[in-house]
Amino acid sequence: MSRRQRSAMKGSKPQRSCLGCGSSREKGALLRFVLAPDGVLTPDLKGNLPGRGAYSCPNPGCLGLAIKKKRFAATFKLPVAGADPESLTAEIRLLVTERIKGYLSLAAKAGRVFSGGDAVTGGMRGGKAGLLFIATDLSEESRKKFTAMAAHAGVELVALCDMACLGALIGKENRGVAAVEPGGFIAPMRRELEIYRNFFDGEV
Ligand SMILES: [Zn+2]
Repeated sequence: MSRRQRSAMKGSKPQRSCLGCGSSREKGALLRFVLAPDGVLTPDLKGNLPGRGAYSCPNPGCLGLAIKKKRFAATFKLPVAGADPESLTAEIRLLVTERIKGYLSLAAKAGRVFSGGDAVTGGMRGGKAGLLFIATDLSEESRKKFTAMAAHAGVELVALCDMACLGALIGKENRGVAAVEPGGFIAPMRRELEIYRNFFDGEV
C-alpha cells in the first residue's frame, strides 16, 4: 500500500465486513447486531448497544446467509440464540418503523413538517417537500392524487401508518398527508427507509 493510500484510509470512516457476503462497507451502511447478556442475537439500529458488534448488509439475503453459515456464533465465539431470519426480520421492521416515526416527530417539533391536503399541495408545488408521508387509510382517490404529485415533484412517498397515528406523530388531529421540508431530517430518514424497503416489499 502506498503512503497516499494509507493516509487516505486514515481520514476515511470506519469499515466493517458483512457476515453474509463478506464485503467491506462503511460501518453506518451496515446493520449492527450484538449478543444480549442472555445470548440472544439483537439488532442494534442505533449502533450504541454495549459489547462487540457483528454486521450484515441491511438486506434479508446477507442476514440469512450469515445466520445459515453460523457466522454470528463464530464472530461472538459463543452460542447464539434467536438467530431466526423470520423473527429478526419482524423485529427489524418494528425497530425501523419506530425510528422513522421518531424522526418525523422530531422534524415536526423543529417546525419542519407541514400537513393537510391544501398545505401539502401548495408546498409540493413550491418545491418545499423533501419527503411525503401519506396515511395508510387515505382514500383511494387522494392516494392516487398525492402519489402522482410526489412522482411529478421527484419526492419519495411513504405510507407509514393510519391518519390518527400520522396526526399524533406530528402533534395534530388526524392527518392524511404530511410533508417534511428538505434538509436536516431527510438524510437519516432515508437511511431508515432504505433498510425498511430492503427488508420489506410494499407499504412504507
Ligand atoms: Zn452483505
